Amino acid sequence: MAFSLHGVHVPHRKNTANSSAVYVDPPKTVTIPMSMHIGAPAKPCVKVGDLVKVGTLIAQAGGTVSVPMHASVSGKVVKIADYLTSAGSTVPAIVIESDGEMIPDESLTPPVVDSKDSLIEAIKNAGVVGLGGAGFPTHVKLNVDPARIEQLVINCAECEPYVTSDTYTMLTRTEDMKTAIEAFKTYMGIKHIVIGIESNKKAAIKSMMQLMKDTCQGCKVDVKVLPAKYPQGGEKVLIYHTTGKVVPTGKLPIDVGCVVLNCTTLAAIGSYLATGMPLVKKCVTVDGGAVKNPQNVIVPVGMSMADVFEACGGLTCEPSKVIYGGPMMGVTVPDTSAPIMKNTNAILALTAKETKLPATTPCIRCGSCTNTCPFGLAPAEIAKAYDRKDAVKLEELSLNTCMECGCCSFVCPANRPLVQTNKLAKAFLREQKAKEGNK
Ligand code: SF4
Ligand code: SF4
Repeated sequence: MAFSLHGVHVPHRKNTANSSAVYVDPPKTVTIPMSMHIGAPAKPCVKVGDLVKVGTLIAQAGGTVSVPMHASVSGKVVKIADYLTSAGSTVPAIVIESDGEMIPDESLTPPVVDSKDSLIEAIKNAGVVGLGGAGFPTHVKLNVDPARIEQLVINCAECEPYVTSDTYTMLTRTEDMKTAIEAFKTYMGIKHIVIGIESNKKAAIKSMMQLMKDTCQGCKVDVKVLPAKYPQGGEKVLIYHTTGKVVPTGKLPIDVGCVVLNCTTLAAIGSYLATGMPLVKKCVTVDGGAVKNPQNVIVPVGMSMADVFEACGGLTCEPSKVIYGGPMMGVTVPDTSAPIMKNTNAILALTAKETKLPATTPCIRCGSCTNTCPFGLAPAEIAKAYDRKDAVKLEELSLNTCMECGCCSFVCPANRPLVQTNKLAKAFLREQKAKEGNK
């Protein structure tokens, strides 16, 4: 796998970078799906009619790779019903009617942490998942032999257009991050912390440099200011650009001695360690041409997109596309009743003008897709192999290395749907493997 400094210069559109995040009024209801993470869905432990407060446990982790869920508003459980996620699976969701008071659960206290195991347990109990987008349970990622961790890499890249919620974290939540870093140093023996941040975030760079100064005792710290080039925040890309290490295909960051945590994930851990309040609210960037007042807002997990847009002055026109996350790797939602998830860092309501693409034309074999792919993949060849349903060739072309960043589609002069084809090809390969496994 050939790593490169390629990637693309996407228009930043960080319209909300300088707006401080505002708390919105609690919505009438929140809908909390039991799966907002990679892994087994959580199992509800409340019933309809139960009264809950902010932070009350409402669902237990559904297995080793899973996290618990907590009430994000105070009020009453009014429904537990199936919910169709944007990934197409059906999971139970707990609907809570808010009493409008946002009363915290008084039984919550900071966890007792005195060892690596109790730290990992605390992170699990906090319900923390990767908040940079992936939603992988953080306690699972961290539950490794600490001797294997050479670097803790903090992902502050925030390379997607529009999204600025991590910038809010970097500017205002350094105390929470400091609490988490001190715990990692004490109980996991972290000796080297590397921060990867794009050069276009001047104030955030200053803030993170100060944080590193404050936490450097007994620990090597590096703040790596990186070119503002998408997809700088991709886990493997960031590891390469901050440490020089290459994570081989099929391997994990820990296999090269790295653990990567997004800065907002780190802050969520620190907040729980300091207060005992689990992950129940999110700072979300609300933007796109159809939003009346684009801004960063702090909302309870489970608030509907429609309510969040309303809190931002509403929509000025029927959006052509509504997405969770940024425009490069975000997921389109069918309607705005979809709730804010734990790992939602932005919601965008884009106009027809913003989403209009020129017609697709035949490939002109210019090579731009390969030249911009951070892994040096050959998307045009992958597309041909997928057309032929050639599973062997798709494996040879390292299809599964593709992180679905969309750089290839972005640069293609023929507007070929390359990343979309890669997603279909990956699903095809999974099907083939399942068939082989059943033989
Ligand atoms: S960038 Fe587009 S036109 Fe150029 S080789 Fe790749 S698929 Fe073909
Ligand atoms: S979507 Fe995949 S193939 Fe295309 S540039 Fe990104 S990693 Fe490379």
